Amino acid sequence: MRTFDEARRDIVRELGLLIHPSSLKREIAALSGSLGRVLADEIRADRVYPPFDRAIRDGFAVRSADVAPGAKIKLVGELKAGDTPNVTVAPGTCVQIMTGVAVPQGADAVVMTEHTRAEGDTIVFENTIAPGQHIVKRGAEAANGHLFVNRGTRLGVAEIAAAAQVGAVELQVYLKPRVGILSTGDEIVPAETIPGDFQIRNSNAYSLAAQVSLAGGEPVVLQNAKDTEQDLREKILHGLKSDMLILSGGVSAGKYDLVEKVLRDLGAEFFFDAVAIRPGKPTVFGVCKGKPVFGLPGNPVSTMVTFELFASLALQMLAGQESRPLPFLEARLGEAMQEKPGLAHFLPSKLSWPDGTPTVAPTRWQGSGDLAAVAKSNCFLYIPADRSRYECGEPVSVLPRHDVL
Ligand code: AMP
Ligand code: MG
Repeated sequence: MRTFDEARRDIVRELGLLIHPSSLKREIAALSGSLGRVLADEIRADRVYPPFDRAIRDGFAVRSADVAPGAKIKLVGELKAGDTPNVTVAPGTCVQIMTGVAVPQGADAVVMTEHTRAEGDTIVFENTIAPGQHIVKRGAEAANGHLFVNRGTRLGVAEIAAAAQVGAVELQVYLKPRVGILSTGDEIVPAETIPGDFQIRNSNAYSLAAQVSLAGGEPVVLQNAKDTEQDLREKILHGLKSDMLILSGGVSAGKYDLVEKVLRDLGAEFFFDAVAIRPGKPTVFGVCKGKPVFGLPGNPVSTMVTFELFASLALQMLAGQESRPLPFLEARLGEAMQEKPGLAHFLPSKLSWPDGTPTVAPTRWQGSGDLAAVAKSNCFLYIPADRSRYECGEPVSVLPRHDVL
């Protein structure tokens, strides 16, 4: 059986074969609506940054050689942000300036207002000042043409600000991959209905759609499939019109777990159909009619975890991003633990900072169907397959739920 690392390597390899970056479709997005989109172009400096020697404090532009404790220097002018610096700081003079102004000629430092006192037209200084203090030199941040944001970057707040700075108010981005979401199971009913005594509302369609959106995809939720070959085949074929298909349920060893069989009959090639993890062991990954397909186990916590571990990786690559490792954090274990060895565990857990140190404690749960438990968690505690006993206070790895942390 694959470890989850091996399974992830299978996905990276197969998606690498399926995707040709030049063939990924693009569109133009308004900068204001580009949060979370993946950049298909580069964002480069349109001039040098800063475009002038920029004062970064409110105070006085001075010749540093003039300034000493008790020095009295004549004030000859004032500049506010945006002003043309048409005044020169001659020896023995200074100019009052505000944050963001272009430092006037002659000055080589800025003294903060707090370190001065005014006596009429004269400014009295408290300390010495080093040349260059509180000035960012023209071009020190970026030369003209400097690469601010690379192709394939998911646009976050800082990237959007950088784009705005260089005037890139329309951006070329990759189209969001459309991800078909197909839940399966005779017992599954739509969430808006009153279930019969032995029926279950469809939560996976909702959690998967939310996860797809968070990961940068466009969810396409299909109608739940019954556990029959015919219904599965019909709905899978429909789902394969999307760029990728995610099924939930029907991949275990039960008599009516038919997803793999139906996919195989449709010509799918599988790269794994089990991973040494709990929850989520029966996870299936293959390619069917040129589209990546995931069959995730139907228990809601398994579905959630296996999406994060596997499907989101494929989605990132389809979205035009580079694949990246799982974003584990280190924390201190809040209590002793004993788990069965053999499978790597991803346990719904709570990360907190009781004394400033990240500390994690597993949430009590009744197994991978327990949505009440996972809804109280904010991360998954990772227990490697070869460990069983952990002592309180040991360092451990956690996978944050990035939707809430
Ligand atoms: P399966 O993987 O099909 O064997 O399903 C495992 C468990 O997950 C069963 O208890 C199902 O009722 C439950 N389950 C399957 N699909 C869903 C779904 N879409 N929403 C909520 N629970 C589900
Ligand atoms: Mg089922």
